[in-house]
Amino acid sequence: MIDLHSHTDQSDGTFTPAELVAEAKKLGLEALAITDHDTFKGYEIARPIAAEAGLELLCGIELSTKFGGATVHMLAYFPWEPPPPDFCGWLEGLLESRRERNRLLILKLQSLGLDITLEEVEIKGRTLTARPHFGRVLMEKGYASSMQEAFDKYLDESAPGYVQRREVPVDEAIARVKAAGGITSLAHPVRVAKNDWDTLAVWVEKMASAGMGAIEVFHSDHTPENVAYYQSLGKRFNLAVTGGSDFHGGNKPTISLGTGHRGNLAVPYSVLEGLRAGRH
Ligand SMILES: [Zn+2]
Ligand SMILES: [Zn+2]
Repeated sequence: MIDLHSHTDQSDGTFTPAELVAEAKKLGLEALAITDHDTFKGYEIARPIAAEAGLELLCGIELSTKFGGATVHMLAYFPWEPPPPDFCGWLEGLLESRRERNRLLILKLQSLGLDITLEEVEIKGRTLTARPHFGRVLMEKGYASSMQEAFDKYLDESAPGYVQRREVPVDEAIARVKAAGGITSLAHPVRVAKNDWDTLAVWVEKMASAGMGAIEVFHSDHTPENVAYYQSLGKRFNLAVTGGSDFHGGNKPTISLGTGHRGNLAVPYSVLEGLRAGRH
């Protein structure tokens, strides 16, 4: 069993890279990909620890991209060699746009009368400060009783505190990853195109023709029907298959590394072999 989708506390997970590697070893995972949002920091910290522990660790990342007006998460894997410096420079620009969003989000929350500062939130966020870190501070200060409530009341797209962030067009992300020697995979397609299967097929075709190399068929939120359909889409558009839990530790406590929701996930090692064989 492998897990090609996981987050550390360098993005919006709660496990440190070392704790994540330890958890993967405990479960007997044959390979792990760390796919933090917009940063390789967790992967870089984990690499020597995984090597020491004898765990196969894959370099990955999850990019927030725009397709039409929609936000689409695009996973990227670098299974042969790490990406070159110019890719990391491009990534640094994306992180800067997130920082700008965070500054605006704080101003908006303060204008709603909340007592909250950027410093308080950034302490929790390390490399990358994301909305769950805002959620934690809002909970600690009694503005919300749960992460769900923090999002519903302040942080979700429909909530009063929401600030739109500049996101990279999906074509640009796909092209950048490809030029850097990586493979892109459409993350959790169940959350794409409002789960309308016909629209999804049209979108996937466009992304595939832009150079996307894979589709995340296996994911904690996918039903068996989803899996079968995404598998068929992968075949139709000649895409490799990826899969993982989308583990976030305590920020999504019902999802376990490797096994997803109550054991609904078991990604075989052959998926990783297929990804490597289908170099796109
Ligand atoms: Zn995602
Ligand atoms: Zn994710």
